[in-house]
Amino acid sequence: MTSMEEVHSFLSQIPGLAESVTMDKAMSFVRLASQLKDEIILAQAADYDLAAAPTEIPENVRSFLGCATDMPEDFVSGCWSAFSDTIWSYDNDGRSTGRDAQMFRDFGLDHLLSARTLFPPTKQCTTPGCLNSNLLKDKDGLRKVVLFTLSDGACATYAVHLHCSQCKTTYHNNYSVCNGVRTYYAGIPNAIQVGEHQYVEREVLGLFIGLMLISWTSATNAARVYDTCLSKPENRPDHKDWPPTRSFKLRTEHVWDGFLILSLLEDYVERNEILEVPHTGEQNVRFNNAIRKRNARFRLCGQPEWAHYCDKCMRVWKDGDGLKKLHVLVIDGITIGHPCCGVHDCPEPLITNRHRFCRGHDHRHHICAVEGCEQPVEPTFMTCPIVEHRQLELTHKTRDKALFQLRGRLQRATVSHPNDAFEAEVTAEEVEEMTIRDSNQGDCEAAKDPSGNRKIRALFGRRRTHNEQIFVRPCGIIVAHATFYASESVSQTVDMLQKVFHVEGSKPDIVIYDNNCTLYKYLRVIQYKPE
Ligand SMILES: [Zn+2]
Ligand SMILES: [Zn+2]
Ligand SMILES: [Zn+2]
Ligand SMILES: [Zn+2]
Repeated sequence: MTSMEEVHSFLSQIPGLAESVTMDKAMSFVRLASQLKDEIILAQAADYDLAAAPTEIPENVRSFLGCATDMPEDFVSGCWSAFSDTIWSYDNDGRSTGRDAQMFRDFGLDHLLSARTLFPPTKQCTTPGCLNSNLLKDKDGLRKVVLFTLSDGACATYAVHLHCSQCKTTYHNNYSVCNGVRTYYAGIPNAIQVGEHQYVEREVLGLFIGLMLISWTSATNAARVYDTCLSKPENRPDHKDWPPTRSFKLRTEHVWDGFLILSLLEDYVERNEILEVPHTGEQNVRFNNAIRKRNARFRLCGQPEWAHYCDKCMRVWKDGDGLKKLHVLVIDGITIGHPCCGVHDCPEPLITNRHRFCRGHDHRHHICAVEGCEQPVEPTFMTCPIVEHRQLELTHKTRDKALFQLRGRLQRATVSHPNDAFEAEVTAEEVEEMTIRDSNQGDCEAAKDPSGNRKIRALFGRRRTHNEQIFVRPCGIIVAHATFYASESVSQTVDMLQKVFHVEGSKPDIVIYDNNCTLYKYLRVIQYKPE
């Protein structure tokens, strides 16, 4: 190994070199050249001894190092003489970031240090109007967190919160908190906080979104892919502060939260706005308002691609002196069926997926499930005490139990099948119907059933939305999308057409739809004119 004195004497041999080589330049010279050892060896004579650094380096390596460190070639030769021994003994793999990460894993946690500690991006208070110009101090010490990375797996690290004693703002890695409001910083952070003690690297979230778009991977399976292939359990610390009970497992809700926060932040960055959400309350409702606002904006102003055209979906040709165009649109309903409020056509979301009605219709949880019956339910039942209504519920429960047993049997038959996929495949028929003898048909002759029977119906499970209506160009670009709650009617589709293409000249010339005849007649009646 060369001493600093020897390095200096080598550098002094070339006039001007010792003065122009900064520490930074010298370090990058050593780092870069040590990665080119194999190229340098390739250019040596056949009897060259691998143990010692060669005195000369090949022309292409010399000119590359000159460009990369911004030095003339004679300076590069001078640097080579000074640093060649260091470069030759430099263990490239051993000193790479991987080795450094190992050092931090081995010794860092004892000293509460980590290479990936998550600090707030600011060191001073940035609240408008706050006069505190001192460096901010940390609040309640370091927090142990798990950072899910692409290259090093699930890492044990720390998060630091800084606090302003004057305006009482707390600065976290992703956002600041003041008066119960969480304000995300402008731009998109490299690690997104998805839980109290969990952060996910942006590249990992990018991978999840790619998996979802390209191979339709569910969030549950995306988390499994990470845990199985990328989480690197061998990197987990063996340290008293990090007991084996601490979970390094990425959960489904982390994937969804990461996806959600990243998408919202990208949307806000694009519009040069700042995302503000409540800091208190449950994580699962924190972003509801922001999502609702975004959806409303999309409904009003259209998807970002609503004005899309390309050679595949629009033909343009010469017609006399001018040009003519033909822009095509395909309309289709996709049956996805999200759980929704049990009241017909009610668009309000459910409080949780276990509810059957929205907040506004919550009282209906206590009213008999049979259609048309307004009697209160009896405790532990979903129906009123009327015998037929109770019978309908019991029939439903028997059917549900049989289905549950079937599900169990199927699961045992294919043990390797992930549990969650099963939930989606076998679901109970949630609507129950029954024909009853109706002795009391009233006085009206017209309303009487000749056989004296009547059908009763009840929805015991959650209602699901009818379909997602999609406007798509033949090239595959989706221009608009809306949820149809109770049915896919032509009037709703026309209403959507008018709203999406409200700008003069934007209407499609040809619409392809599976109910085209009715749509066409409807459009003629309301005198909807294509351009
Ligand atoms: Zn302040
Ligand atoms: Zn197109
Ligand atoms: Zn409702
Ligand atoms: Zn009833």
